[in-house]
Amino acid sequence: MTTPIQVVQWGLGAMGSGMARLLRQKDGIEIVAAFDRDENKIGQDLGAFLGGAKSGVLIQAPPTGADGSTAEIPTAGSPTAGTPTGKWPPKADVVILATSSFTREVAPQIKEALRQGLNVISIAEEMAYPYAREEALAREIDEAARSKGVSVLGTGINPGFVLDTLVLALTGPCLEVKKIKASRINDLSPFGPTVMRTQGVGTTVEEFTAGLASGEIVGHVGFRESIHLIAKALGWRLERIEEERSPIVAKVRRETPYVKVEPGQVAGCRHTALGYVDGEAKIELIHPQQVLPHLEGVETGDYIEISGEPSLNLMIKPEIPGGLGTMAMAVNMIPQVLAARPGLLSMAELPTPSALLGDVREILKWRKGE
Ligand code: NAD
Repeated sequence: MTTPIQVVQWGLGAMGSGMARLLRQKDGIEIVAAFDRDENKIGQDLGAFLGGAKSGVLIQAPPTGADGSTAEIPTAGSPTAGTPTGKWPPKADVVILATSSFTREVAPQIKEALRQGLNVISIAEEMAYPYAREEALAREIDEAARSKGVSVLGTGINPGFVLDTLVLALTGPCLEVKKIKASRINDLSPFGPTVMRTQGVGTTVEEFTAGLASGEIVGHVGFRESIHLIAKALGWRLERIEEERSPIVAKVRRETPYVKVEPGQVAGCRHTALGYVDGEAKIELIHPQQVLPHLEGVETGDYIEISGEPSLNLMIKPEIPGGLGTMAMAVNMIPQVLAARPGLLSMAELPTPSALLGDVREILKWRKGE
């Protein structure tokens, strides 16, 4: 058999650790390096860190570029201050990046991986369609990837699947599309303090309003990316996007391991976005995110309504689990990315995602037409 597909896992938080566990279960794939900036993780054997057998791969700090630049510049007080930078393995095929949400933050990491001539899969929400907010950076990444003959993809559960890829797939059998309305009603309770803070869970309504104004409470990151992706793939000229965020106020007490919400306090953020085409709001995305919605009779689910010819409805109840879904999407897209044309790509430009259940080398050969 040929050599396994060699993967570098960059970022070993909630998502990255789950991806690494999944990668270790796949036939025809091996993890050849792992990077994280957290000093508590650096130096540990990856397999043991993941709760399994030793792997012989040590978790390292982020690597230094050939030109001496670092993907993350350690400053005094930063988590990597004083930590030696990590080393790239002699050979690898693809880097899976699970470190941050924003293109500006992951761009140095992507560029460093591209300097090594490696393909990249990122779950940063903004990377689902980085042209939406960071056009210049997106072009830079695209050029760097093309010049090395490799591909870069942003994916995830949302953005990356539910409110964009799945929506687009559902328009496949349509002769005409007049309007798209899609909602993802989910439960935030598995998530930790960072998500609680950025969604404003556990605040008073006044604190929520102040948090929105200061930018500390942001709601969902990804509407702009999903709307741009839908419009681009359909050939709609997007004129503008309008977003609205409002507090979901609890009527009953809701408690998770990370947060306590009393009646009258904020249990989550109802975030909606409208994408205008020809003066009409043709794309409507709805994403109320809250903890324990079932306590007030709200069931989770993903819903897509296409109005057109024919009109179509899709309902997935309960919601596609966000954490598991994200881990799977990043890993399952490996063959599509390795078989893709070079450049910065989106989910809309690659073949349909599918699970990897057999030897991934065989699946890759088939995708490449070998
Ligand atoms: P997390 O905070 O649990 O983990 C992030 C990890 O990355 C940590 O271990 C941290 O030490 C490490 N890290 C951060 N910056 C780094 C750097 N420069 N170099 C090396 N390591 C670095 O977060 P998570 O839940 O694993 O999610 C990761 C990111 O993915 C978040 O920004 C999250 O919003 C995003 N995400 C996207 C989707 C999607 O659907 N697109 C879904 C889930 C999470």
